[in-house]
Amino acid sequence: MGLKPGNHTFQMDVDPEFFACFLESEIQNAQGVMDVILEYSETTMTLRLALDLTWKVPCGRCLEDLTYPLQSEDKIVVRFGDKTEYGDTLWILSKNEFELDLSQTIYELAHLSRPPHQVHENENDCDPKMLGYTSNDSREESKKLTDPCWDALKNLK
Ligand SMILES: [Zn+2]
Repeated sequence: MGLKPGNHTFQMDVDPEFFACFLESEIQNAQGVMDVILEYSETTMTLRLALDLTWKVPCGRCLEDLTYPLQSEDKIVVRFGDKTEYGDTLWILSKNEFELDLSQTIYELAHLSRPPHQVHENENDCDPKMLGYTSNDSREESKKLTDPCWDALKNLK
């Protein structure tokens, strides 16, 4: 590996183009960094990862852009073996493998740190132009129909 034993730190940039590489990504507009501390000894490496992204996503009710932090930490132990194998917390690297591919890990950490609902916490903060259509419905019903396009169609009757 050409690395001296000890701690090595580096930082990777993460931007929307990174997520565009994953067809099924539910995150599109996120930007930030992943800090990596690599603790290296002759037999083992430990990767300490800290992801810190800012995610912009349209509100599920009114489509106005919301901003969330995507922050997550992880630790991966890397050993050297005959065959490269990526597990959840342990990676085996074959001796001729010189590169660590962290892209799948960044992708997964980002998705795991998403908030459960991407809507304005307080419905009053939603864009009233998009919500006006549902004012005659009962609260229960307007909760179920969160797609504003569908709500607009319903109002035409
Ligand atoms: Zn909203």
